[in-house]
Amino acid sequence: MKKLAKLNFKKAITIYLIAAFVCGIASATALGYLFRSKISLALDYEKISETDRRKAPAAYEDIAAFAEKHPEIAEALVLSVDRTIVFRAKDGGIVKGNVWAFEKAEEKRGRGRLTDPSQPGIALQWLDDDLTDPLRAVIDEREGHNRLDSEKDVLLEPINQKVYPIQSWHIRQNGETVVLLFDFRPVPRAALALRIVAAAVMLFFMLYWALVALWVYADAQKSKLRGETWGLLALFTNIAGLLVYLIYKGINQVCYQCRAVMGRENTYCTNCGAKLGETCAGCGGAVGKHSGFCGRCGQAQEEK
Ligand SMILES: [Zn+2]
Ligand SMILES: [Zn+2]
Repeated sequence: MKKLAKLNFKKAITIYLIAAFVCGIASATALGYLFRSKISLALDYEKISETDRRKAPAAYEDIAAFAEKHPEIAEALVLSVDRTIVFRAKDGGIVKGNVWAFEKAEEKRGRGRLTDPSQPGIALQWLDDDLTDPLRAVIDEREGHNRLDSEKDVLLEPINQKVYPIQSWHIRQNGETVVLLFDFRPVPRAALALRIVAAAVMLFFMLYWALVALWVYADAQKSKLRGETWGLLALFTNIAGLLVYLIYKGINQVCYQCRAVMGRENTYCTNCGAKLGETCAGCGGAVGKHSGFCGRCGQAQEEK
């Protein structure tokens, strides 16, 4: 503990900040690379769903290019008002026939699922309308890619039925509907990568926590205060303890010579004897630096 208190904090904090910065950049880069296809899918999805809503008719070639670029788009359809399929980006045979025959199936625990009696092998499950949707289902490799990963999730696959997460939007001008069927695939080793990054974040957080407590301990020792007490306070309350410590130091005075902390009423340092404040020429009592008169005897003080 004594050795730790002599730690060069400027150096330690610099090293800590550099290490945290480097680790942060490395983690972000690694995760960005690992999840690159998901991120690109999410960004493209956001773009196409935004611009498409405003256009009429739907830009089929944009939808086709989007579906072509991302293997996780299993199918992209455009439906007319009478539910006829007027455009099909991937002819993978997922949705058969020329008419949209999917209807809301029996609701299971909250969220609707669409089924087509003529296609018992597949079902469609709505996704929420936000950017994170294509990013879901990336982690859980054990469950397979049809099981979405969240608490509200009801995607428990019936045996022999493939469930596609879907998303759709209307085009206001002509009443057409764009429907995307996703086939999310888990990112290999995603869970491991996330665990490593989480562990690194935890480690840096613990280091930060320990550094704050150590600094308070060392600084209190140096200031001839109870180092252990202040250090323990900071260890349990961290930033709150640090603030209390700094306020405590702020309302007291610090000896310019030995850095000991003591009450403002002290004229001399109780640790090294250095003269800390002004004394009254009349009574010898302590007077504040900017006082015009002595608080005890009323003698006028010279301007210094
Ligand atoms: Zn002193
Ligand atoms: Zn006086």
